[in-house]
Amino acid sequence: MGEVVDIAIIGGGPAGLTAGIYGARARAKTVVFETGLTGGQIVSASWVENYPGFPDGISGQDLADHISLQAINAGAEFRTLTPVEAIRVEGRDFVLAVGDDEVQAKVVILATGAIPRRLGIPGEAELAGRGVSWCATCDGPLYRDKTVAVIGGGDSATQEALYLAKIAKDVHLVHRRSEFRATQCLQDRCLIETRIDMHLSRIPVEILGEGGKVSGLRLRSTEDGSEEILAVDGVFEFVGIDAQSALVADLCALAEQGFVKVDHNGLSSCAGLYAAGDVADYDLKQVVTACARGAFAVYHALHYLDSRDAAE
Ligand code: NAP
Repeated sequence: MGEVVDIAIIGGGPAGLTAGIYGARARAKTVVFETGLTGGQIVSASWVENYPGFPDGISGQDLADHISLQAINAGAEFRTLTPVEAIRVEGRDFVLAVGDDEVQAKVVILATGAIPRRLGIPGEAELAGRGVSWCATCDGPLYRDKTVAVIGGGDSATQEALYLAKIAKDVHLVHRRSEFRATQCLQDRCLIETRIDMHLSRIPVEILGEGGKVSGLRLRSTEDGSEEILAVDGVFEFVGIDAQSALVADLCALAEQGFVKVDHNGLSSCAGLYAAGDVADYDLKQVVTACARGAFAVYHALHYLDSRDAAE
C-alpha cells in the first residue's frame, strides 16, 4: 500500500476546496485529488453576485482562485497529475486507485460536482465547439455583435443570457415553459434587457449548421406544435446538470439523476463516505452552500474519525 491519508477529498471545486481548508486546519492529513482546473463549475460562471463578502460580485474564476489559494495556505495537499479511477472499501478504510498507485484513506469526501447536461438534439454533437457551447465565459467573447440563443429557464440560463447581452447583438432566450425557475431578480433583469428576446413555451428540436458552423436553431411550440427557425451564430445550453457520481455508484445509495443521497451531515449510506457540493442530493446548489456542505462534511468526518479511534 502506498500513501495513507486521513481525509481524501475528490474534486477541487468550492465544496472540495472548503473541505480542504477545514481538514487541513484541523491538522488532519488532507489531500485534494483534482486533475482539472481547481474551482469546478464556478470557473465558467461569468459573474457571481450572491457569494457573501463581495458586494459588487466577483468573477467565477477569481472566486475559484481565492478559495484555492486559501486551501493551499491552510495546508491542504493537492494531487493533480492522475485521476482517482476507482474506490473500494477495505476494512474500515477506503482504497483509491490512482494510476498505478493505491492510496489508503480513512474517510472520503466526494466533491466531484456535476457537468452540464446535453439536450441530445440533432446537430448538437456535430456542432459542439463550432457554435454550440456550455460556457458563456469561455466562448461568449467570440460572439461580439453576433446573434446567439441561450436555452434554459434556470439561474444559469438567465445569468449567462445577461452576460452574453453585454457582448452579442441579440440574445434569444428559449425556455420550454411559460414560467422561469430562475431567481426572480435574474428574471426581472432579463425582462428589461432590450437585447434579450424571450421565446417561451418553445423547445429546441434541431441545431442547424452551414459551412461547419451553427447557423440556426429550430424551435417547436409546446402550445400548438408550430415550428420556427431562429438565425443564430451560437447556441448556449444551460439545461441543468448531471452528477458526477460514477466513482461511488457501487458504494452508496444514489438519488435520481445520480446525485449521492446524504444526511444533513453530508454522510452517504456508506460509513466514512461523505458527499458535498453539486454531486450531493440537496436543493439550493450555490457556491455558498457547496462551501458550507464541504465544511459540514469535514466536521462530521473528523468526529467520525475521533470516535473510531476512541473505540480502538
Ligand atoms: P436548473 O435550475 O436545473 O435549470 C435547468 C433549466 O433547463 C430549467 O429551466 C429546465 O426547464 C430547462 N431544461 C431542462 N431540460 C431541458 C430540455 N431537455 N429542453 C429544454 N429545456 C430544458 O439548472 P441550472 O440553471 O444550470 O442551475 C443548476 C443549479 O445551480 C441550480 O440549483 C441553480 O440555482 C444553481 N445556480 C445558481 C446560480 C446563482 O445563484 N447565481 C447560478 C447558476 C446556477 P424547466 O424549468 O421546465 O424544468
